[in-house]
Amino acid sequence: MYVSEKAKSIKASTTLAIDSKFKAMKAEGLDVVGFGAGEPDFDTPDYIKKAAIEAINAGKTKYTPAAGTMEVRKAVAEKFSRENGLSYEPTQIVVSNGAKHSLVNAFMAILNPGDEVIIPAPFWVSYPEMVKLADGVPVIVDSTEEADFKVTVAALEKALTPKTRALVLNSPSNPTGMVYTAEELKAIADFAVKNDIYVISDEIYEHLIYEGKHVSIASFGEDIKNRTIIINGVSKTYAMTGWRIGFAAAAPEIAKIMANVQSHASSNPNSIAQAATVAALSGGMDEIEVMKKAFVERRNYMVDRINSIDGVSCKKPNGAFYVLMNISKIKGKTIAGKVINTSDDFAELFLQEAKVAVVPCSGFGDDNFVRWSYAVSMDTIREGLDRLEKFLAM
Ligand code: PMP
Ligand code: GLU
Repeated sequence: MYVSEKAKSIKASTTLAIDSKFKAMKAEGLDVVGFGAGEPDFDTPDYIKKAAIEAINAGKTKYTPAAGTMEVRKAVAEKFSRENGLSYEPTQIVVSNGAKHSLVNAFMAILNPGDEVIIPAPFWVSYPEMVKLADGVPVIVDSTEEADFKVTVAALEKALTPKTRALVLNSPSNPTGMVYTAEELKAIADFAVKNDIYVISDEIYEHLIYEGKHVSIASFGEDIKNRTIIINGVSKTYAMTGWRIGFAAAAPEIAKIMANVQSHASSNPNSIAQAATVAALSGGMDEIEVMKKAFVERRNYMVDRINSIDGVSCKKPNGAFYVLMNISKIKGKTIAGKVINTSDDFAELFLQEAKVAVVPCSGFGDDNFVRWSYAVSMDTIREGLDRLEKFLAM
């Protein structure tokens, strides 16, 4: 069948694939436990739901401007001022159908065919595919577990070519949970300014940092702010994954192009979810603190358990809600009669034999790891790790 070569080259999202497999197995009545897609197990706070119901009753059920209502763009601009010390006009804010959509808009706005985008690995599975969708070329820069999965400016310099247009930064990181320090960010900001490249700064996990505080790379002065497209949203912070609201802040020219692209691709994001987002962003941090406390407890338990099990290990992440488990010592071993050669082999067999869903990091740029999400209950975490112990002894 005749299809687009570009679209054909795009791989399916492993995170979403594992999640739907897990949900399908569960629906079949199988005793499966899931650590796949990263979504908070908490419910969306009541005050946000109430705002959505009020929006429906008030008839806020029509098209809005493509980039979002002035009200939501103002609420986002106020968020950046209050939480990040960054001043943006509402016209520099584009509200989209999730941060994923904001990222696609950003790459569409800045890339011409063949432009290169540096992506530090391990990376969130969607970045390289999004770059390819926008006719760009992903350039992967590896990091090591020993260096806390952080890339240095020296490594970035090596990847630089005359075609480099942008760098993707994701701190706190999915999947590593790593958080760059202010000094490290400043060095990367200087690198971007010196080489006149954009930074796509995905800050969706900014409120899920367990020691210290988030710093946006855009906050190191006007030069870097003009070159940074900040991506954020309500999915993780407010347990609103299904509402599909993300947002971007960028230089006026870039924001305008992103809004134009969106006006043809999807029009405005859901009007009711926009109203709910205004409430979320104006509602204080109490509920987030409750979630954070639970995440810290779960992270500590998961990290200690993994590191007490022979053959696997992990670093203690400082942000987001993922643990990367090193399986390099398991590779080449036989479990339940099958040889494990790759992280895909591991994840597949773990799901089949132990009924535990984790994400193989083949799609995240480092095949020595699988990813566990700890945005699930403590009981689930205990059960998953009990099963891991039994599985490794099979
Ligand atoms: N960026 C990162 C790093 C993510 O993990 C995710 C996953 N949800 C997104 C962006 C997209 O978030 P959203 O649900 O708002 O599309
Ligand atoms: N971002 C989350 C994850 O990595 C949700 C799934 C997705 O959007 O890919 O699991």
